[in-house]
Amino acid sequence: MVCAYDNRMIEEIVSARNIIREQNNEIERLKEFIGKQDNKIATEIKSNIIMKKALKCQEEFIVNISHELKTPLNVLSATVQLFSMYYDSGSLDKMKGSIVKYIKSMKQNCYRLSKLINNIVDSSKIETGFFELHLSNNNIVEVVEDIVTSVTDFTDSKGLNIIFDTDTEEKIIACDPEKIERVVLNLISNAIKFSDKGDEIFIDVKDKNEFIEMSVEDNGIGIEEKNLDTIFDRFKQVDKSLSRNTEGTGIGLSLVKSIVELHGGCIYAESEVGNGSKFIVNIPSRNIPHEKVIHSNKISSKNGNIKVELSDIHLS
Ligand code: ADP
Repeated sequence: MVCAYDNRMIEEIVSARNIIREQNNEIERLKEFIGKQDNKIATEIKSNIIMKKALKCQEEFIVNISHELKTPLNVLSATVQLFSMYYDSGSLDKMKGSIVKYIKSMKQNCYRLSKLINNIVDSSKIETGFFELHLSNNNIVEVVEDIVTSVTDFTDSKGLNIIFDTDTEEKIIACDPEKIERVVLNLISNAIKFSDKGDEIFIDVKDKNEFIEMSVEDNGIGIEEKNLDTIFDRFKQVDKSLSRNTEGTGIGLSLVKSIVELHGGCIYAESEVGNGSKFIVNIPSRNIPHEKVIHSNKISSKNGNIKVELSDIHLS
């Protein structure tokens, strides 16, 4: 027989247990809340760090870009002043020889400005999703070989030997030939920039069935292993003390990567400091329906594009 006293005790124990259970639940809820807050704080710290890095990168970019804009502008304005002086002193005819040289330099600097502005515009188009590929079925071997042929005069003038090789004569794939030209010219332009007289540049196209592999290889100064991934980031340049004090904004390779990725492909680099670099591009071998094969010789204004793309390498 349970007496009233025992019943009260049992009720009190049950109620105490309920209170403890409630409190435990509350503690669990608090723990969960604190955990979520911790995660939130950690995420906020992380995004703060990422934002600071991006801001620093953009600041560096503004400094770089101002320098890159000012250099050709200074050359142009100094040359215009000089011409004006020749005109005022009536010596235009006498100075004909040097004027021709100056006009060449002005043209070169106009190309440099065009390249810079093209790159900035395309880079922001990519960021905002307005960059478009105009895909058609093309013989990629011919597209690349044509580009190589058209830069040969330039590489000859720099004392560099450019060699094209392929394991197939024809491979029709869906691509935007103008954008592929941009990719290959950018890679060749870098290969030239970081090579010395007498060096060799190899351009190779290989048929790997599911994809086509294009590579641009040089035996120039090379890239440190720790920089092999970051060189594809926007505005990223390798520490100038290591990479030779060349012109540039660090937009080129990020554009190249975006164009390759828009084609459904990928790009990576292999390098050894002092022994050269190799940039490898893989583009899927697929065709688009209702194909319209446009041959590479139909690419418009190739000469203009080459002058613009190679404009930050000075003719000696
Ligand atoms: P930039 O316009 O400054 O040349 P890129 O995006 O084309 O920018 O290249 C980024 C950096 O990658 C360069 O500043 C250079 O340090 C390095 N780089 C690119 N290509 C080569 C190469 N073929 N050999 C050595 N370094 C290279």
